[in-house]
Amino acid sequence: MANLANPQETIAVLQKYQFNFQKKFGQNFLIDTRVLEKIMDAAEAGPEDCILEIGPGIGTMTQMLAERARKVIAVEIDNNLIPILQDTLQAYDNVKIIHNDILKLDLKQLVQEENDGRPIKVVANLPYYITTPIIMGLFEADVPLESITVMVQKEVADRMKSGPGSKDYGALSLAVQYYSRPELAANVPPNCFIPRPNVGSAVICLHRHAEPPVKVHDEKLMFRLIRASFNQRRKTMLNSLNNSPELSFNKEQITAALESIGLQSNIRGEALTLEQFAALSNAFERFGTN
Ligand code: SAM
Repeated sequence: MANLANPQETIAVLQKYQFNFQKKFGQNFLIDTRVLEKIMDAAEAGPEDCILEIGPGIGTMTQMLAERARKVIAVEIDNNLIPILQDTLQAYDNVKIIHNDILKLDLKQLVQEENDGRPIKVVANLPYYITTPIIMGLFEADVPLESITVMVQKEVADRMKSGPGSKDYGALSLAVQYYSRPELAANVPPNCFIPRPNVGSAVICLHRHAEPPVKVHDEKLMFRLIRASFNQRRKTMLNSLNNSPELSFNKEQITAALESIGLQSNIRGEALTLEQFAALSNAFERFGTN
């Protein structure tokens, strides 16, 4: 079977099918074996694993996954790639190609059907225009999974792993870290792709926590507080929470809740840890549902 990570092979396949890249689908195909191997190592894809690959493209990474894992489910949106995948992956009987939009699939049900509800691993060179909805969708829908190993924009990887005090710290950092432990696996320059993206990329592995690292009674309230705090990043918590259309606590309640966990009302959201957001959310409970 031809090694598609070899740029000449990729070009031959693209020419054979007269494939035109579609910008709207975030199509940047990997053509670097070393990067693909780093992704395999980070994901620890092994013979017991059922892998969900989002956006297989022409099947470059899918082939490598199929060599290592028990089963690969590859979900691709682009009609034009389906016949190509049927060709490049024909030697593998452990690959299932699903032609669909990943954001429209019921992934919990898919894991039930394809892996008897046991945790899967997600591995992908993601379409960058929908990185956040894909990752948050997997976590929030409580899809049984061990880890998510993905190529994302470098800037997004930095946001996922940042903590308080960093300019990159924000709602995405807190959401990702509530559900998982992020680990940077590689930085990847634009010349590893065809066509070249105009941003740097990185591979990040999100190891799903068995239990969230903080005890929060109302997750939805905590995430509303987080969103409100970073929507107006330069404002104090008192003002951000008071101005948020998603919350209806008054200034006295906000001050009291902050003080009850030892914080001043002029503190900014970017200074709070995940533990503090959880404690704050629990402190607001005494004012009733919001
Ligand atoms: N995995 C291939 C590789 O590494 O060479 C291709 C990666 S490319 C960055 C992203 C892939 O995701 C493309 O094949 C694109 O068509 C597909 N894609 C884009 N939006 C999608 C969606 N909503 N659902 C499923 N696949 C999608």
